[in-house]
Parts: sequence; C-alpha cells; structure tokens
Amino acid sequence: MNVPGIRGWCPTAHRPMMSGDGLLVRMRPRSGRMTADKVHAVADLARRLGNGLIDLTSRAGLQIRGVTHDAHPELLRALVAEALVDADPGIEARRNIVVTPFWNSGDLTDRLERVLALRLADLPQLPPKTGFAIDTGAAPVLQDVSADFRFERDGEGGLLLRADGAERGWSIDEAGAFDALNEMATWFADTGGMESGRVKRHVSKVALPGNWQIAVPADGGQLRAPGRTKEGVVVGVPFGAMSADALVGLLAEADPAFVQVMPRRCLYLETARPVTHPAFIHDPSESLLDVAACSGAPRCTQATVPTRSVARRLTGRCAGTLHVSGCAKGCARSGSSDVTLVGRDGTFDLVRSGSVGDTPDQTGVPEAGLLELFP
Ligand code: SF4
Repeated sequence: MNVPGIRGWCPTAHRPMMSGDGLLVRMRPRSGRMTADKVHAVADLARRLGNGLIDLTSRAGLQIRGVTHDAHPELLRALVAEALVDADPGIEARRNIVVTPFWNSGDLTDRLERVLALRLADLPQLPPKTGFAIDTGAAPVLQDVSADFRFERDGEGGLLLRADGAERGWSIDEAGAFDALNEMATWFADTGGMESGRVKRHVSKVALPGNWQIAVPADGGQLRAPGRTKEGVVVGVPFGAMSADALVGLLAEADPAFVQVMPRRCLYLETARPVTHPAFIHDPSESLLDVAACSGAPRCTQATVPTRSVARRLTGRCAGTLHVSGCAKGCARSGSSDVTLVGRDGTFDLVRSGSVGDTPDQTGVPEAGLLELFP
C-alpha cells in the first residue's frame, strides 16, 4: 500500500507546503469574497513570486503555486498588506471558515462569520485541521464540504449548530451562537478530540449530549452551477486550476465589482456582463464539473501517476462523479464519488461508490488499462 505523507495540518501562507513545483501558499479570503482589485493583486503576485498558477481549493481557498523559499517572505508580506492573510500565524491557521456563497452584507451568514473570525482565539486548543462551516443560506449546501462544526438553518429558518457526523444539531439563537460553538468545541477537546483529530471521527466513538441532537437541518440544496444568476455569473474552474493570465482575462471580460470563491471550485463574479472565457466552464451540464483531480505527478511529490490528463480522458466515459487522486491522501475530494481512482506505485486502484480510503474493487490497473475499464 502506498502510504502518502499525510500531514496533520493544512498549509497556510505562513506555513506553506512543499509540492513538486515549489511551495504552495494558501490564503482564505474573508467569507470567500474579494474586490476585483484584490483578485488582480493575487494574479500579479502569482506571476511575480510564483510560477503563474493559482488553485481553488475544495473549501473555497486560493493557492499560489511554485513559490521559492527566497520569494516566500515577500509574498507573505504582500498578502498581509492586502489583508488576504492575517498577520498572526496562529489566527490564520485557525481561520478555517467556509461560508455559504451568495451571502449579502449584514445578513446572518455575514454576521456569524464576523463574530467567529473575531473570537477564534477564545476557542480551546483544537486539532490543526479543525474547520467551521457557516451554511446559513435558505438551505444548507455545504454538507459535502469538509468542516467539523456547522452552523445551519432548520426547516423553519431557525439557527442550529451541528457537530459534523451527527444527523441533527443543537437549536441556538444568534446571540448565543459563539458561546454554543465554544461549548461544543470545549466538549470535543475535553473528551479526547485532539486524539480523534476530526469531529466526525470523534462522534462515532463518543456520544454527543442529547440536546445537541434534536434540531433537524433544513433539506439540503445544491451549490449553484455555472451560469447567470440574478446579480452575476458563476463560472467553473476545471480541476480548480487556472493561470494568472486566464484569471486576469476573465476579470477584463466580466469587469466585476467583487469575486466570490465558491466551494466546488467555482467563482461567482458580481457583474452584469456575459462571460465566455475559454479557460473556464460556463455550461452547467459540462461533465468536467463532476470530476475532481488533484495536481498529481509531476507537480506533487506524493504522486506516482498523472491525474488531470487521465481525468480528461475518462470524463464522459464513466457515469456519475469521478475522482482521480494521485495518492491515498485524496486532496481533491473528501467525500465519495461514483468512480475513484487512486494512484499507487505507478498504477491505479479503483473504488466504485466510495472514496480514497475505501477498499478498492480493483487494484494495480495501469494507466493504459483504464480506457478498457471505461470504454
Ligand atoms: S492527493 Fe494528489 S495532491 Fe494530494 S498529496 Fe496525493 S498526489 Fe499530492
């Protein structure tokens, strides 16, 4: 079994991760939203201090690729100056917050994010990968996005806090939202959460207090697919990978006031203009939207197989969702897919209806044999 170098932390701008093409410098724009000027600044920094490539992560983060150790201090200073990264490394590492897209200034999602971002330091010590989802639109849409503590609405529009892995949550009010989160996080820490690592794993072993499992979340909705919305345009980013040049081209075409980085590797452009830039996905029925593939070989040092070229060849051949992962770490998608291919020692293991951690249905398939499996 190819055991990847799974790290118990997520890269940040202060603590970047080495990849096959240099350092990955990750930032998490506040509530996923940036002015067009800030997006231009990111593109400029990616060109000047990285290799010109930018990733969207599955949790609505941005990564500048190909940064050298020498260039990193200048990049970090610039990102802090642009307020895209917190100057305090500890706060930046904790600010692992993903929000439902299409929020509006002053609405519940915005208010909760502000309180949480302001009071992160008040939470107890938690495992480094701990994430928070503020999924408080009309219907939850972030269930497939990794997070440990989830703010959601119930069917009547009330607010609840749900431990990831629990089907139901704790009915709370907005004024007590942070205190409730603090209480749940403290329970997690005090009952061995540091050893469990993630809340979902923890609640499968340790019973949650009963009153935290009463409120039923509203039925889940769908994240908006590419296309026009009332106030803008959503575009998909194939595999979440784009060049700084393509991003600048998109901005020139759309001229948006703001850009939101959405989960599922889409961008929401707050603009009235139609956009057709060929580097992006505009058709909501495009099969590539259902395909996840990490950077793979040679960009990632953990990979022994190429991923995105394989994914492009298989797109449209296998029914449903496809995930091609360079190794068992599964960076590109944490949930299950109809077909998952996991690189191992230069070949692929195939998991049907599962994820990278599940027992494969077939092992050791060479790249050339994949087209026979999916004719
Ligand atoms: S899943 Fe892909 S990007 Fe992540 S460590 Fe493995 S090969 Fe690298």
